[in-house]
Amino acid sequence: MGTIVSLQLYVENPAAVTAVFNTIEALETRLTVNREHSEVMSINHAAGKHPVTVSKLVFDLIQQAKAASLLPYSRFNLAIGPIVKLWKIGFNGHSIPPADEITHRLSLTSPHLIELDQTNHSVYLAKAGMEIDLGAIAKGYIADITKLVLAQYNIHQAIINCGGNVLTIGSSPLTSSQEWHIGLKRPFAAANSLLGILHVQNKSVVTSGIYERYFIFNKQLYHHIIDPFTGYPLDNELQSVTIISDSSLTGDIYSTILFGFGVRHGLNELEKHKNMGAIFVTKDQKIFIKSNQHFQFELLADDYELCQ
Ligand code: ADP
Ligand code: MG
Ligand code: MG
Repeated sequence: MGTIVSLQLYVENPAAVTAVFNTIEALETRLTVNREHSEVMSINHAAGKHPVTVSKLVFDLIQQAKAASLLPYSRFNLAIGPIVKLWKIGFNGHSIPPADEITHRLSLTSPHLIELDQTNHSVYLAKAGMEIDLGAIAKGYIADITKLVLAQYNIHQAIINCGGNVLTIGSSPLTSSQEWHIGLKRPFAAANSLLGILHVQNKSVVTSGIYERYFIFNKQLYHHIIDPFTGYPLDNELQSVTIISDSSLTGDIYSTILFGFGVRHGLNELEKHKNMGAIFVTKDQKIFIKSNQHFQFELLADDYELCQ
C-alpha cells in the first residue's frame, strides 16, 4: 500500500498479530495497482478487450467505489488510474505531464465506462487504456477487515493505523475517560507536531490531505488527489479533511469526496450524514468542525483559528 501499518494491542496475542498482517498482505495482493499482478490489475490489463471475473470481495469494493464516483458533484473517481499513473505523485519519476497527454487520458476516466455484471462478478473496462485505482478506499476497507479479524481473537480494544487511516476499536485502556486520543498532524510539519487531538471511542479517523504525497516544482505544490474534471491536483481552499465515522471504508470514501467539495459544500453535505463528523483544515489556517457528537477536538496550534 506504499505506507506503514501499525497495530497496537493491549493484551499479548502474537497469533492475532500474525493473522492481522497476513490478512492485510492477502488483501493488498488482490487490490494493489502498484504491482504487475493483482485482481484489480487483471481487470486493467483486459481493458477494451474482455470482462474479468473477480472475487466477490473485489467486486463489492469496485461496486461501492463506482457508486461513490457517481454521487452528485463527486470528484471521487475510481477510474482515475490513467491520470494517477501519468503524474506518479508520491512515486519515483513524478513530473508535470504534457497538457495534451492529460486531455487524452481524461477520456479514459469515465466511471460510466466501468461495466459491472452482478451475476458472475465480472468487471469490464470499455476502453483500452482504462485503469481502476482503489487507492482512495483500500486502506479504509482493510482497516475495517482488521477489526473483524481481531474480533475472532476476542480482541475488542486496539488501534490500527494504515498510513493515516486510524481505526480505534472499542474503548481506550489508557485514559480515565476511556477515550482514545488521536493526534491530527500539523500540515507540512514533523510527524510529532500536532494541530490538535481528537477524543474518540470506537471510531475511524481518516484524513485526506495535500501534505503527505506531493512534489514542488516552480514553487507550485502538486499533491496526489486528482481532480477528475481537470486531470490536475485538486485545487481549492483545503489542506485536509478528516472524517470521523464508524466504518473506515466510509471514512476513506468521504474524506476524498468532502475534500473535493471544499468547506462550505462539505459542511452542508454533513447535514445529511449524522453518523459522521469532520474536520476541515484550510490553507489559510482555519479549522471548521462538524462533530455530530462523535468526537471532541482539542486545538493545540495557536496559529490556527477554530471557525464556525
Ligand atoms: P490517502 O492516500 O492519504 O489515503 P486518499 O484516500 O484521498 O488519500 O486517496 C488518494 C489516492 O487515491 C491517490 O494516491 C490515488 O491512488 C487515488 N486517487 C487520486 N485522485 C483520486 C480521485 N479523484 N478519486 C479517487 N481516487 C483518487
Ligand atoms: Mg485514503
Ligand atoms: Mg480516501
